[in-house]
Amino acid sequence: MLLHVCCGPCSVFPLQHLQEKYPGGQITGYFYNPNIHPYKEFARRLDTLKNFAGKIGLDNLVIDESYPLEEFLRQALTAAAGRCRYCYDLRLLQTARYAKLHGFDCFSTTLLVSPYQQHELIKAAGESAARTEGIDFCYQDFRPGWQEGVRISRELEMYRQPYCGCVLSERDRYCKPVRGHN
Ligand code: SF4
Repeated sequence: MLLHVCCGPCSVFPLQHLQEKYPGGQITGYFYNPNIHPYKEFARRLDTLKNFAGKIGLDNLVIDESYPLEEFLRQALTAAAGRCRYCYDLRLLQTARYAKLHGFDCFSTTLLVSPYQQHELIKAAGESAARTEGIDFCYQDFRPGWQEGVRISRELEMYRQPYCGCVLSERDRYCKPVRGHN
């Protein structure tokens, strides 16, 4: 399986779960997340993943560091189905494409662990990418393991990011609405 990994902390539970469910099955991680802004945050999340990959059972990791910031923002801001659907489509389509090209049986994503993500949109994006590329999407609802993943990532002292990824989500997290003047 090619497992799209959004970050280190979110990878903890899905990896544990998949290894238990498919003993002996080989899982390769695939980091492709041009939605993480600004670049220093992107680098920090990627470094965290690299530093902890061995500890969380991710022995095979493919990293795509491409960072088309202008293109991402242009598309995200004008996407008819909304920026998050564009963002999920972008990452899962690329994952499906890579999986098909390199002979993997199927693909999935650690995004499916987060109760803060739009789970049904991620599922739809995965299914759509699977149809487009002609490869199976291994859908799993990892959310019941969210707290367990949080606990382990804290124990390991992993960096845990405080916002989703794009600059818009960072604004939504920190920017308090200014009260209008009368
Ligand atoms: S809020 Fe998160 S999922 Fe939505 S566009 Fe931004 S980074 Fe992507």
